Amino acid sequence: MTQEEYKIYIDKVIRRVEAARLKVSDYHIVKIVAISKYSVSNEISNLYKIGQRAFGENKVQDLKAKAVELEDLPLEWHFVGNLQKNKINNLLDINPTLFHALDSIEIAQELQKKLEAKDMTLDALLQINSAKEESKYGFMPEVAADRYAQITKECPNINLKGLMSIGAHSEDKEIVKKSFETTYEIYKSLDGATICSMGMSGDFELAIECGSNMIRLGSVMFNK
Ligand SMILES: *Cc1c(COP(=O)(O)O)cnc(C)c1O
Repeated sequence: MTQEEYKIYIDKVIRRVEAARLKVSDYHIVKIVAISKYSVSNEISNLYKIGQRAFGENKVQDLKAKAVELEDLPLEWHFVGNLQKNKINNLLDINPTLFHALDSIEIAQELQKKLEAKDMTLDALLQINSAKEESKYGFMPEVAADRYAQITKECPNINLKGLMSIGAHSEDKEIVKKSFETTYEIYKSLDGATICSMGMSGDFELAIECGSNMIRLGSVMFNK
């Protein structure tokens, strides 16, 4: 695909996002985070040239490597994967725009300690295991609001901005929809939360219709 063809391709993706958000309301804004985990720096800079600024990775070492390789570009880096304790310093080194996957009290407490020591703050989202799947990380829906309040209170260097969830792993659209609705309901109940990060390449239109205002698109943005 030439760069010109790629631009036309991305215009089509953006038109799909537009159509979905307009079904919600003229005022419903949706931000696209391009997940670059299957892509190399060259592909990221091609997408940047079309106008994309926000990129995300799900492994700390990849995030760091790409952020360093592309440090001359004014990109926003998001971290969307599970964070292990021994990777916290590496993550904080690149001062990410948003950490989408805060999924335990233990990691929140560890992050708080490191942030305090570095005199930094970090914007983050609480991850919800909305369909209660064993294969997924995140807080169970029943306890999510309480844990959100607890982290807000006990971890002053973590700025919780809202929620993130991965749609249910199912071919049944109704089951996926239900998982998005579960997350959106919790999101609406939270005081001051502004980001609801739901929807990936295979289900972003449904996620937007369920209230998502941040979508994480990997394969569809890079035409994989
Ligand atoms: C890989 C990944 C995505 C993007 O997945 P696609 O299906 O390629 O769009 C989104 N969110 C998370 C947490 C991911 O790991």
